[in-house]
Amino acid sequence: MNIILLGAPGAGKGTQAELLVKKLSIPAISTGNMLREAIANGTELGKKAKQFMDEGALVPDELILGIVADRVAQPDCQNGFILDGVPRTLAQAEALEDKGVVIDHVVSIEVDDAEIEGRMTGRRVCGSCGASYHIVANPPKTEGVCDHCGKELIIRKDDKPETVRHRLEVYHASTEVLKDFYGKLGRLRLVNGSQSIEGANEDILKVIGAKE
Ligand code: ADP
Ligand code: AMP
Repeated sequence: MNIILLGAPGAGKGTQAELLVKKLSIPAISTGNMLREAIANGTELGKKAKQFMDEGALVPDELILGIVADRVAQPDCQNGFILDGVPRTLAQAEALEDKGVVIDHVVSIEVDDAEIEGRMTGRRVCGSCGASYHIVANPPKTEGVCDHCGKELIIRKDDKPETVRHRLEVYHASTEVLKDFYGKLGRLRLVNGSQSIEGANEDILKVIGAKE
């Protein structure tokens, strides 16, 4: 089963992807995490992507398409995968179709901008594995420490309120149109993301047919 998690920055894509990985036993592919790893490792990709990410702008399509095409071709994606944060433009969505990457369900996690701005101030992420937490809604077991790998939790540079506002504008200008694109293909499933993490997860499992 190949799934796309669509939604504004902060809608809960990473949080839901982590839960779905456990329940569906398929990997999650987060382009944001891959790019942050590339920056941390000082690779060419990281050098090219850094400024766009710091400003809350989109990284050029050609850089994204290269890393996604390679990743979905890996053996662990044979039984399915969850795309988190990609595609983010019409060109990326069309390129996936052209490459024959078949998508079964596009789950759009719906959250208002006002709520997102509040969520982002409380987000903490693992600097190593990328796991996402919230100081109130989804705290780690030990403050400041990742439950999964024991590494330090950090505040993302692009989670500053002014950058978040810009990222929301970018979402509405460039990404939201994908709802129409996948809607016309009959693959769009809308889920209310303004409820508890568990509630949203139940709804996602229902709309993808993994739970009654
Ligand atoms: P995205 O991957 O879409 O950018 P995240 O999964 O990182 O978003 O979630 C953004 C922030 O909101 C995190 O701090 C996360 O813990 C928190 N969060 C996610 N889902 C919910 C929810 N349903 N209710 C409250 N907070 C949530
Ligand atoms: P995310 O972790 O999904 O919030 O992504 C963080 C940042 O990485 C975005 O603001 C973009 O700069 C960049 N990015 C991640 N995925 C993509 C994508 N599919 N297309 C373009 N830029 C992306």
